[in-house]
Amino acid sequence: MSQYWSKLVHDLDPYTPGEQPKDQRYIKLNTNECPYPPSPQALAAIHAAADERLRLYPDPNADELKDAIAAYYGDDGVQRANVFVGNGSDEVLAHVFHGLLKHDAPILYPDISYSFYPVYANLYQLEAQLIPLREDFRLCLGDYTCTNGGIIFPNPNAPTSMAVGRDVIEALLQANRDSVVVVDEAYVDFGAETAIPLITHYPNLLVVQTFSKSRSLAGLRVGFAVGHPDLIAGLERVKNSFNSYPLGRMAIAGAAAAMRDRDYFASTCQQIMTTRDMTVQKLTELGFSVLPSAANFVFARPPAGNAEALYLALKQRGVLVRYFNKPRINEYLRITIGTDAEMQTFLHVLAEL
Ligand code: PMP
Repeated sequence: MSQYWSKLVHDLDPYTPGEQPKDQRYIKLNTNECPYPPSPQALAAIHAAADERLRLYPDPNADELKDAIAAYYGDDGVQRANVFVGNGSDEVLAHVFHGLLKHDAPILYPDISYSFYPVYANLYQLEAQLIPLREDFRLCLGDYTCTNGGIIFPNPNAPTSMAVGRDVIEALLQANRDSVVVVDEAYVDFGAETAIPLITHYPNLLVVQTFSKSRSLAGLRVGFAVGHPDLIAGLERVKNSFNSYPLGRMAIAGAAAAMRDRDYFASTCQQIMTTRDMTVQKLTELGFSVLPSAANFVFARPPAGNAEALYLALKQRGVLVRYFNKPRINEYLRITIGTDAEMQTFLHVLAEL
């Protein structure tokens, strides 16, 4: 421990990101990025924003981006005042934990879930109550009651890939009107139902999404939240208390253009879902048991139960997948859906092993 660290920093248990190796080129199926390039319109907007105006601070409110998000979800009643944007949904989630979940009662999240939640709970000194997933990894939202500390869960869940329907989320909201309910929809665009249409009825609902997966912009770092203007105003207060310019000019312009390019977005999501279904079928033929996926990844248990050895053998052959050395999930591999060609190579290597 450094003598200069605070006790808080000493006690932190920071998040370890998935591998981003620089030593060689891998078929990268380990961090759920999109295998397709960003929308050409997004790239053009980023290039156009790289001009002499970079000497000026960007719009602190990122109105162009908020308007593009509001227009995309306009049929659900979303307006600019319902939208918060940040530097990746990880940053948005940090502000959520900091500003919206801090109460006297514990916050609730699933015991198998996005591993950043315990990191933020620790950082912001929130007491957390972990709610176990069922035996078959189902998330039962009926188990989430009697709290006003707040509830957060991903839909689809990560790393299990399984989704719940909007009707189940609505039942949760009806049973928990005093708690902030945060639905982390990082993977919602690959076949799950967004909860955004519920925001006009439930002022305690916040939906968080990202440009890193379905919009191919992980490298730009943009995420957003949609909810009642009161929740959004709370997030703005937190943001303006430590970083009033979270997004640069290029990020605002690129993400807004990506949001407006609906056709490109729809076609890449569709392609990934088609490739996913092919991958699930082939993995099943190889004897894997694969959880039902509504995400751009699958969670699969190898027939011989040798997940860690398989992860290492795949890596040696130039294919990276994700292995979690944690109870209950250490028999599984999380495999991001790549291009058809990448998945064919992966399946070929797997069959050889
Ligand atoms: N939520 C979940 C469930 C995720 O898996 C991720 C990606 N690791 C994120 C949020 C954060 O994504 P980003 O910060 O790239 O928007």
